[in-house]
Amino acid sequence: MAENSSAEQVDKVSLRVVVLKEKNKVLFAEAGKDFVDVLLSFLSLPLGTIAKLVAKDSNIESVKFGSISSLYQSVSDLDTQYLWSHTCKEMLLNPNNSAEAYCWNMKLNIDNTESLKSYYLCENVSCLSVDHKYCLSYFRNQKCICGKPLNREKSRILSKEIGFVKEMSTFIISDDLYVMPNVVTASLNLLQKLGVNDIDAIDKQTVSINITKKEVVDLLKLSLVSKTPLSDFIFKKEHFVEDLVLSNQLEVNIGKEKEESDEMVVKVLRRKSNKQILFVEAEEDFADFVFSFLTFPLGAVLHTRQGFSFVSCIDNLYKSVTELSSDKCLRSQLFKDILTSPTISAQSELRHQILPIPKNNYKEKNTSYKFIDPKSPISGGYAGASLTFMVTDELVVTPMSSIDGISYLERMKVSLNDVEEMVLNIGQKEGLGILRASLTSKSALTNGLNQFIGSRSVQANLSSNARPLKKPKVEK
Ligand SMILES: [Zn+2]
Repeated sequence: MAENSSAEQVDKVSLRVVVLKEKNKVLFAEAGKDFVDVLLSFLSLPLGTIAKLVAKDSNIESVKFGSISSLYQSVSDLDTQYLWSHTCKEMLLNPNNSAEAYCWNMKLNIDNTESLKSYYLCENVSCLSVDHKYCLSYFRNQKCICGKPLNREKSRILSKEIGFVKEMSTFIISDDLYVMPNVVTASLNLLQKLGVNDIDAIDKQTVSINITKKEVVDLLKLSLVSKTPLSDFIFKKEHFVEDLVLSNQLEVNIGKEKEESDEMVVKVLRRKSNKQILFVEAEEDFADFVFSFLTFPLGAVLHTRQGFSFVSCIDNLYKSVTELSSDKCLRSQLFKDILTSPTISAQSELRHQILPIPKNNYKEKNTSYKFIDPKSPISGGYAGASLTFMVTDELVVTPMSSIDGISYLERMKVSLNDVEEMVLNIGQKEGLGILRASLTSKSALTNGLNQFIGSRSVQANLSSNARPLKKPKVEK
């Protein structure tokens, strides 16, 4: 996954920024298509890709993306034997971006996932599926249905349409990443909002800076942890908010819930004294549910809660796309949809997904190719069959072991009489609670689930050897 550093130096675009130098404050930036495309592409990035990118060095140090970073690391550390296949691990660590066709040729594209470039056919040239199609995968050396590896590389034809906004269009961008068409009224409104009434009276300066992919990664990091990413970026501020804290409980008013049969059953271990959820013990269905977060495009997560992720700048970015004109600013309505309601890539979807993440409507047309699903044919998920996992508050997923469980409690300095145990059903509401909390909090389970404990689905204080009973899955 080495980056082409020489290409990185060539690909730079300039950004003009109006600043208040004395206050180290960006009023707004003015940018063209190349910069705005990559900024908007943040919404198309799967959460796993974001975790991977912000863990890397750029001009600023790595940052943690809520609990997603620790989830990503735990999958990276997880022995392949606990997953259905080696390819499953690769799919989670390098998730496909469903908007890749439009991002790949962007000047500042930061998603260098290798799998975007090619797909792979069976080593056996004459191998055909039962419906007489050639077997195919995005992942090299995935096992074909015949048992041989899919390793004959075929380049993909990528779209000639690059990015999301119209050619030659220009935009202004607020310090907190609100993107607007570059018209005088927009900048005046913005200045008024900032309390600037007399333009002459302020000591403003226009600075021009070159942006390369490295700076884009800086901005991605800052957009997750700062409320003023452009100011922090331009003035190289070192101290930004490390961990955005959820001020209140998440709203749970999400309308229709799925039927009971879609619920998962987990055993929750919680500290009695402060109600912190230490970990849950769960079967592979819950592990798959948590793994699948890595494949969700950021914009899809915002879509589930109409643009409010609590990561304020990302909310602004999302909201501004919903307001940009689909015929004047964006290429078309299609591109607005791709950004505000991006889908999971077709191969990555779980068969039983309890969350309302937009589905890929891509249908295999009458082509002579057939994608081979690397996931479990039994569960339709990533995890190995009939396994029990331990998932910590920070979404670290490991195979369950009593010894590891106890040493975890030791590490957390929990006395055993301070531990309560309960069985909880995880349905769509609870699932959304965890997902939303995972973006901003290192206590995704506590912040995502505690609001539901005590209200429903709980049978507390079960005898300690009672195992969560799995409900039979109804095949659809
Ligand atoms: Zn084959």
